[in-house]
Amino acid sequence: MSSERLVVGIDLGTTYSEVAAYVGDQVIVLGQDNRRIMPSCVGMSPDGQLLVGEAARNQYLLHPERTVRSVKRRMGSTERIQLGEQALLPEEISALILRELTDRASRELDQPVKQAVITVPAYFSDAQRSATREAGALAGLEVLRILNEPTAASLAYGFGDGQRRTAMVYDLGGGTFDVSIITTEADVTEVLASHGNTQLGGDDFDELLLGRLKAEFEQRHGLDLDRLALARLARAAEEAKQRLSFEPHVRIREDALVTVDGKPFHLDVEISREQYEDMIRPHIESTLESVSRALDDAGRSPGELDAILLAGGSTRTPLVWRLLEERTGLPPRQEVHPDLCVALGAGVLASRLSGRQVDRVLVDVSPYSFGPSHLGEMNGYPYPHCYRPIIRRNTPLPVTRTESYFTVVEYQTEVDVDVYQGDDPDALKNILVGHFRVSGLTPMEEQNEVLCRMSLDLDGCLQVTATEKLTGLSKQITITDAMAPKDEAEIETARGRLADLLSNRGAAVAALEGHLEAAGADPTAGCIDSVSLPDGRKRDRTRYEKLLERSQALLDSMHPDDRSEAVEIRAAVQQALDDRDEAALAEAGDRLEELLFYLEGR
Ligand code: ADP
Ligand code: MG
Repeated sequence: MSSERLVVGIDLGTTYSEVAAYVGDQVIVLGQDNRRIMPSCVGMSPDGQLLVGEAARNQYLLHPERTVRSVKRRMGSTERIQLGEQALLPEEISALILRELTDRASRELDQPVKQAVITVPAYFSDAQRSATREAGALAGLEVLRILNEPTAASLAYGFGDGQRRTAMVYDLGGGTFDVSIITTEADVTEVLASHGNTQLGGDDFDELLLGRLKAEFEQRHGLDLDRLALARLARAAEEAKQRLSFEPHVRIREDALVTVDGKPFHLDVEISREQYEDMIRPHIESTLESVSRALDDAGRSPGELDAILLAGGSTRTPLVWRLLEERTGLPPRQEVHPDLCVALGAGVLASRLSGRQVDRVLVDVSPYSFGPSHLGEMNGYPYPHCYRPIIRRNTPLPVTRTESYFTVVEYQTEVDVDVYQGDDPDALKNILVGHFRVSGLTPMEEQNEVLCRMSLDLDGCLQVTATEKLTGLSKQITITDAMAPKDEAEIETARGRLADLLSNRGAAVAALEGHLEAAGADPTAGCIDSVSLPDGRKRDRTRYEKLLERSQALLDSMHPDDRSEAVEIRAAVQQALDDRDEAALAEAGDRLEELLFYLEGR
């Protein structure tokens, strides 16, 4: 390899930077695991040492005045930035980042790095592009191309193979958001429209979480935190945010946080994904407005897009891809790690410039979706084999995700976990790949939360763990060949089982309801083989909202006596829904259900 010409691809990001190159027989991002993503930070330590990357980021927490972040925002300006004793131009700071990246690459490849492709946002002006070139030159690089980031993302996904395609690239990074509609054909990529917000990104989400943690602390202790404590909390907030992409809640524990008065306190807070999503929702909504504007400007409807491609680390946030899919009707593609996507695309172009025919990036993804079945509602009936995947098809491997489920009856002490492979919302149309039972759950009146964690590695080994949140009691199974294609016989068995059940649906529902009744009648026998929808409370709300609708429709045809009763009960249900008073809701809901049963039955 050392005799070949080496060109690297560099994503010089606002918050993080990466370098990619052709190694072995594919394009990869260089660096070991957590060193692949380098903070775009430069600092000067108090003793005059230059710090770049992780070291500078760590120093920022203590000495923000000696550390430079987000220099990309200032590229193209002539404003000087103080670094220790010196005042540097933005391109000089960027050059230090590029130099560190290429030095690391040279060491890893055991070969000097001299030529590079560097990416820039589609909206960068000529001045900003020249400053980027200049930064490359200062770092001792020959910059062969300045590549638009959305184009790079599309190359990583293989949209540079000569065919005509139209795609939306949605890029939400640490400090910036932009969305572009592009067409690719032969070697030419055209950016049809581009919108965004250069002041919006994951940093804002960190701020929101940090604000929450600070408020929590100040409320409990009535004191402000000192600078170091705040810095620690800021780090904890970013970590928590990242974990919330894969877990339904996180617990943030920090010991001995010192206040401005010098008193140490500890902080222990749990934040759920739902709470977090409520905080960031307005920001995500605002990105969707840019999406609409970009589509309008490009004169395209979502139906005319071949794909939505995700780039930027913040697109790992489930709310982002969920809302994007809801609004456009297209499931965004995410089989390339979003924070590496732009660097990998730059690597594809770099490899081509060095004479290798590279079509796209190779990524190991799960060919199937996996998840457990749960009790939910299908076609208006309770159904114990509802299914929603935890690991979705085309997710890059390895992956670990956790979701919450709730027990369905009071004093339930066991759950059965049936693990399926497939995408159908009816679990029985998918393939059962494993099964286990967790016994000895704490009997309790309220819903008991059970976490289901799924881990799939590159060898197709799927680990499923169910854990009672309250006590940590857990049970696990390992399915060793989860990615192996299932044989036809197994699929047939699944179909047969389904046919039986469908012909017998009434009985299945009756059996389930029987279970529920039995469990209610004799609490000590409270054990049934199911867990409920990820949020049982939500399920109840929808049920009562439907009751309200049904009763509304009947109001006109009611006898006046019935009507006044109905109006009164409906008001009680609505009040309970508004107050989120579960006890009152159950009580009023039952009365409304009875009334409807009586009215509809006549
Ligand atoms: P940029 O292009 O601005 O340099 P990146 O594309 O590298 O940024 O994205 C960085 C942002 O992505 C940071 O705010 C980081 O916290 C966020 N991020 C990284 N991983 C996750 C995750 N698992 N969930 C949510 N956000 C994440
Ligand atoms: Mg980036």
